[in-house]
Amino acid sequence: MWMEREARGIMKANVTYWLDETVKRVPEKAAFVDEGKAVTFQELQRQAKALASQMIQRDLFKKPVVIYMEKGVDVLVSFMGAAYSCNFYSPIDVDMPASRVNKILEVLSPSLVITTKALKETFESYEYEGEYLLFDEACRGEICEEEIEAARKKGIDTDLLYVLFTSGSTGVPKGVTITHRSVIDYIDWVTETFAVTEEDSFGNQAPFYFDNSILDIYSTIKSGATTYIIPKNLFAQPVPLLEYIKEKKINTIFWVPSALIVVAKLKAFRNVDLSDTLKRVLFCGEVMPNKQLNVWRKFLPDVVYANLYGPTEITDACTYYIVDREFSDDEPLPIGIPMANTEILVLNEHDGLVKGEETGELCVRGTSLSMGYYNNPEKTREAFVQNPLNPFVPETIYRTGDLVKYNEYGEIIYLSRKDFQIKHMGHRIELGEIETAVSSLEEISLCCCLYDEKRQKIVLFIEEELEKAYINEQISRLVPEYMLPNKVITLEQMPMNANGKIDRVKLKELL
Ligand code: AMP
Repeated sequence: MWMEREARGIMKANVTYWLDETVKRVPEKAAFVDEGKAVTFQELQRQAKALASQMIQRDLFKKPVVIYMEKGVDVLVSFMGAAYSCNFYSPIDVDMPASRVNKILEVLSPSLVITTKALKETFESYEYEGEYLLFDEACRGEICEEEIEAARKKGIDTDLLYVLFTSGSTGVPKGVTITHRSVIDYIDWVTETFAVTEEDSFGNQAPFYFDNSILDIYSTIKSGATTYIIPKNLFAQPVPLLEYIKEKKINTIFWVPSALIVVAKLKAFRNVDLSDTLKRVLFCGEVMPNKQLNVWRKFLPDVVYANLYGPTEITDACTYYIVDREFSDDEPLPIGIPMANTEILVLNEHDGLVKGEETGELCVRGTSLSMGYYNNPEKTREAFVQNPLNPFVPETIYRTGDLVKYNEYGEIIYLSRKDFQIKHMGHRIELGEIETAVSSLEEISLCCCLYDEKRQKIVLFIEEELEKAYINEQISRLVPEYMLPNKVITLEQMPMNANGKIDRVKLKELL
């Protein structure tokens, strides 16, 4: 009895125990598949343990390990290797500019870099003098089971699993730290809510340095599903993309809205029928306009659609809305209600809870919270603060900087980021509200609104050749006159950042 309880307790302390259980059930099933190769759960475990053994032999415990490889199966094996040895991983994009890589290295001071022979040469030009592990050799190495067990026993659930770097406003990237516990809680919620089983197949879009990928990776490892890593170039070709989904029998996708919008824009469903294939369409990371979601819903009415919301700092997502009613094209889609074991506090300017439909900042409380920014106490103190509603015991909340309000159903509606809230001619305006209005126009596919502080102008970026007068006339039924864009800029293509979201930093340079 005692042994059983102990085993259960340990099971919940490290994500690799999920992998051990899954290997027992479905050893030969494909876990992850990329363009070049596939890895079964058993192979994944074996290779990861070989990498872990190398890390343990180097006396690494609770140390940062950089993964520097092209996106693919091997990156995920390396993640698991770090986890088995109770170290924590930080993936660095191979396309990242050298100056940013160096800034990350300065913050992280990694103890080890896992890479390939070819990429090691590139990495050697960065400011790093430490050790390397070459993936191809190390994944075939010997496994020290006892040492791995000892390391996992020493580790606890609040130890770090990964550090993901997001852009910092000061130019110094911030390393968001996430523990095993946070991922375990989140994935328990995902797999229960969406009833994920080994019958399921995910179509991964998110880069592995972007936290949306956590859902695909760990739901797969826990439930014994399969994740297909979709080749990046397919996201620019909707028809081949949908053909890929059909061919691989992918039934679940979790993408950024921009990727779903491209498919809706070209109405690729007319060429490829996914009605017998797709079961769940989940999205997170930016606003999903109802206009494009309505195209998806029209062609695939039986799919479960869910809008997940959250920043990296709270382990991917903290609220969700499973689409359960009709929306007109110009209505906002709710971000919904808190996930299990999560409290959302919507705080007004006086740090009190908002009343009625008052706007406030979304703040989060719960085990999903990051431990803070790695090696950056100052930035950590700014965003992770004492719960102002609890003066009695230390209790941290994360201030997201996102403005929201409740609707009449008690669901949360995302309005905009605090920094996208402007004062224009004395009016307080959420730029997101203008974007929602413009997105609802028939002709518009993607749009983005910025404020030109210097010239005091609302600037709208679109991809279509449309006159400002026409747009303003159309949206004047949706927003007040003072919110009408003062300038419209047509771009051949909206710039996207590495995560696949609209790149507002690049657009700002065009003002
Ligand atoms: P990241 O940390 O890169 O995932 O970015 C998090 C930010 O993306 C949030 O603070 C929001 O501003 C935005 N975001 C994430 N999910 C949603 C969503 N479902 N709807 C609107 N904005 C979102």
